[in-house]
Amino acid sequence: MTDHKDIPDLIEASKEVPIVPGQKLRDSDYVRVQRPYTLQRLTERVYWVESLVYQSTFVVGDRGVMVIDPLSYGRGQNVLKAIREVTSLPVTTVVYSHYHFDHIGDADSFVRDAKSHGKALHIVANAECVKEIHKYGDKVPLPTKVIRVPRGSFKFEDTLVEVGTPEQGHSTDNSWILLKEDGVVHNVDMIHPGQLEFDNFGVGHYIDGYEKALQELLTLDWRIMTAGHGNIGSREDVQSVLDYLADLREYTKEVLPKTELAPFIKDEMMYNWFHAHRDAVASAVVDRMRGKWGKYTGFDLVAMTHARTMYWEYYLH
Ligand SMILES: [Zn+2]
Repeated sequence: MTDHKDIPDLIEASKEVPIVPGQKLRDSDYVRVQRPYTLQRLTERVYWVESLVYQSTFVVGDRGVMVIDPLSYGRGQNVLKAIREVTSLPVTTVVYSHYHFDHIGDADSFVRDAKSHGKALHIVANAECVKEIHKYGDKVPLPTKVIRVPRGSFKFEDTLVEVGTPEQGHSTDNSWILLKEDGVVHNVDMIHPGQLEFDNFGVGHYIDGYEKALQELLTLDWRIMTAGHGNIGSREDVQSVLDYLADLREYTKEVLPKTELAPFIKDEMMYNWFHAHRDAVASAVVDRMRGKWGKYTGFDLVAMTHARTMYWEYYLH
């Protein structure tokens, strides 16, 4: 929600009018997915671009453009087209938020694009990301500048860009990239503004680390977020996921100790002996969550996966 009554909460995407923090795009994910890309101006010089449910942030500098996450599977070309709508300056810097190929696989096309402008592309990534790139066979160009973890920074032209890589948020190398002067943070695969979270919160284990990474995000100075998927994010969206986690935690702590394991173990399912107990606890937790969170699309698809994740958190730790 925006602060003032005369500022609409929902807007048509615009490459000209900067978004007001808290505003959301009116078009749903489904509507946006029908287009090659959607471009939204975030601030004077920072833009959000989405192509087939994946998002980049780009900054138009004085001499070139910096792109955070080059996307993949052909989407990178759409990011380049979107950039050409607002500037003819070449892309001089690409930043990898983390090594998940679906977010950075098209980096090569940015190297070629820079070359066609007579430039060598600067590529920035954190040290953990470099390890992941090697681990999976060097499928993307290596960074020309490596940022130390857990915190570091670099300069894009005259702008200081801060980078943080929490111990565990979504992957060991996933980083937030902060454009403090612009009040914009790029941190993908952590929250999905306007929607409930991915199956298992996109992590599957160590939910505490995920929660801490979200709390860390709120200690930073920003007002607009590129979340990688979903709508354009705000601080309220991060807080909403923390509230969801708190409810899930509270109900799991309440239900799990009261649900005995033995009655759920059956002769015919010894291999998967935990299934029935886990799902009995998770179902009871989901029932309690429904009142506050059931209005969100997809609640019945994902809430069980969230409750199972929290079940393991308490069962194992
Ligand atoms: Zn990812």
